[in-house]
Amino acid sequence: MAEYSAWQLLKHAFTGNTGWKEAWRKPEPKPAYEVVIVGGGGHGLSTAYYLAKEFGIRNVAVVDKGVLGQGNVGRNTQAIRSNYLLPENQHFYELSMDLWEGLSQELNYNVMFSQRGVLNIAHHPAQLDQFARRGNAMRLNGIDAELYTRADVARALPGIDMSPTARFPIHGGFMQKSAGVARHDAVAWGYARAADRLGVDLIENAEVLEFIKDGDRVAGVRTTRGEIRASKVAVAVAGSTSEVMRRAGIDRLPIESHVLQAFVTESLKPVIHTVATYGGGHLYFSQTDKGSILFGGDIDGYNSWAQRGNLPVVEDVMAEMVTLFPGLARVRLLRSWGGIMDMSMDGSPIITAGPLPGMYLNTGWCYGGFKAIPGSGLCFAHTIAKDEPHRLSAPFTLDRFQRAYAIDDKGQGPTPKWH
Ligand SMILES: Cc1cc2nc3c(=O)[nH]c(=O)nc-3n(C[C@H](O)[C@H](O)[C@H](O)COP(=O)(O)OP(=O)(O)OC[C@H]3O[C@@H](n4cnc5c(N)ncnc54)[C@H](O)[C@@H]3O)c2cc1C
Repeated sequence: MAEYSAWQLLKHAFTGNTGWKEAWRKPEPKPAYEVVIVGGGGHGLSTAYYLAKEFGIRNVAVVDKGVLGQGNVGRNTQAIRSNYLLPENQHFYELSMDLWEGLSQELNYNVMFSQRGVLNIAHHPAQLDQFARRGNAMRLNGIDAELYTRADVARALPGIDMSPTARFPIHGGFMQKSAGVARHDAVAWGYARAADRLGVDLIENAEVLEFIKDGDRVAGVRTTRGEIRASKVAVAVAGSTSEVMRRAGIDRLPIESHVLQAFVTESLKPVIHTVATYGGGHLYFSQTDKGSILFGGDIDGYNSWAQRGNLPVVEDVMAEMVTLFPGLARVRLLRSWGGIMDMSMDGSPIITAGPLPGMYLNTGWCYGGFKAIPGSGLCFAHTIAKDEPHRLSAPFTLDRFQRAYAIDDKGQGPTPKWH
């Protein structure tokens, strides 16, 4: 298994970099496991890792229809934060914040977690009041939050249009300094390698076509690489949730699939020192360590499984970026791509046992599942191992929709487009 010490780097530099070992094994699937996890994205891999590490369940396979890390875990804009209003969300996302802080050491893999802060820009005094309310709610629960003046915003984002004649003049901002970014591929690879070392089998290119059932109970999966039986089957397939669950006979879930696009520019000198969001529309952006500006906006407002997007959203996102940073108008866009989002009806995730016996479901991540990967994996592993929800994910079980207990942080109702 690959080791990445300074000595190894030096040794391989002198031997043409041909001797590196694979970061994880490529095992043949066994006929049966204690737990099979469908989906080798961030949530599936972290769940496998914590099952093995925290609960001693090592007879685990993660099956993915492609190679690891090609789904949303490697397609997102990397923002990590816990700046929520509602206590359920605050405590749940704060668990991940704590885990992010030690993740590179925990996995012995540099996930490049950078606490450069997340700044929400306010364009109206009433918006600043709303931010103050959210910040106070966070501080009451021990999470850092600060109101920023106009001067603070200008310092964090040199080049932003601070003029009073701007389309939506800037009034201040709301900062969570402990928030930031991590390198998304490294998160997938780090969890994969660490889970593999604990004995988890990572089975790539194995699409789940059907679920094996003993009566009502889910008892395994039929994949393109054969049949695998399991005492427990967990599904963590993000944007493919409805389609995969349909294969288990579940055709109604409070989830819609939408495309979300992201964009990167050519490299620039540092001009954006934090992750930031625009309060006059829906836009979030940061500058990568390579200098590219990485940004995105709204989902495309129609259901789709295509991993590419539509031009009206591109135009909208570009217009918002140039409104804030007129000086970027001539910067070249290098790439854009899309990922399929699992949009839940209240904007909050679902981490649950069920909906069938022997089955467990992790989905509904909307715009924000990357930041939750460590905490979600730990809570989902707890649910699978103990057959009861973790204290912090208990509000996010599927039955909340039956109980009419929506966790609707933005108060914008059952409209995926608005989350
Ligand atoms: C453009 C974009 C920007 C985003 N920005 C942010 C952000 O800034 N911050 C943030 O917190 N979140 C962000 N997100 C959301 C975040 O990326 C997702 O919520 C999260 O990655 C989803 O969980 P995952 O990593 O497990 O999903 P994925 O990586 O998509 O994993 C699901 C896996 O399931 C596999 N699969 C599907 N069907 C099958 C099948 N039948 N059999 C076997 N395997 C199957 C897929 O191949 C895939 O590997 C963004 C998403 C996108 C698309």
